[in-house]
Formats: sequence, C-alpha cells, structure tokens
Amino acid sequence: MFTITKEVYFCYGHRLMAHPGKCRHVHGHSVKAAITVAASELNEQGMVCDFADISAAASAYIDAELDHNLLLHRDDPLVPLLREAGERFSILEEHPTAEFLAKMIFSYVKGLGFNVRSVALWETASAYATYSEG
Ligand SMILES: [Zn+2]
Repeated sequence: MFTITKEVYFCYGHRLMAHPGKCRHVHGHSVKAAITVAASELNEQGMVCDFADISAAASAYIDAELDHNLLLHRDDPLVPLLREAGERFSILEEHPTAEFLAKMIFSYVKGLGFNVRSVALWETASAYATYSEG
C-alpha cells in the first residue's frame, strides 16, 4: 500500500460550549490539516495521485466552509446574535472540535473520489486529532 499526504493550512474561530474550561469562550486557531490518500498500485504517472489535486480539492472546500469562518454548534446561543449582526459563521451539527473538522474534511475529499485514508488536524503545534474509517 502506498500513501501520500498533503498539508493545507487555514484559520478558524470556534467555541466548545460543553467544555468546562477556557475552550468554551470564542477563540481562534491557525491550523494544519494533513490529508492522506492511499493506493495499492501506482497510476500511470507512478503516483498515488497528484499532490496538487488533493490540495485543490481540499482547499476549495476549506476556503469556502472553514477558513476565516466562525464555526459554531447548532445550539449555540450566539447564532441569532451573529445572524442579526450580519457576521459570517457556519452552523455545525456537532461541536466544532478538531476531531469533527477532520471528519468534515475527510468526508468532503473522499466524496470527490479520492481514496482518503485519514485526515489529521493540528489544532496547536503539539495537539492533533485524526479521523479515518474502517
Ligand atoms: Zn479551540
């Protein structure tokens, strides 16, 4: 099995309403996501796939949905206030943790046909979450 990994970088704001500590307050992260794609055999170019193709697919989604966006749980009481103020935000069905964002990126890129093995998202330089299936 061959794997390749492409890293993409972006920023977001969020808060974790169920967190007992400081993460329950609105704050931001500048993060790295590492998208790993697998293949049992190499293509006619001798690759799993082109790094640029992974980057283009992931970046289009991240730019539209995550980058410089405020990511909030659907039950967050800030939602009506931000809507009224005309601020940009996205409502997620789950708490906007690194774990769930990794799953969101995984699902999107896999949905485009890439054989995604895992997505890891570094919320800080020393802490990351990984999502994979199977
Ligand atoms: Zn955070």
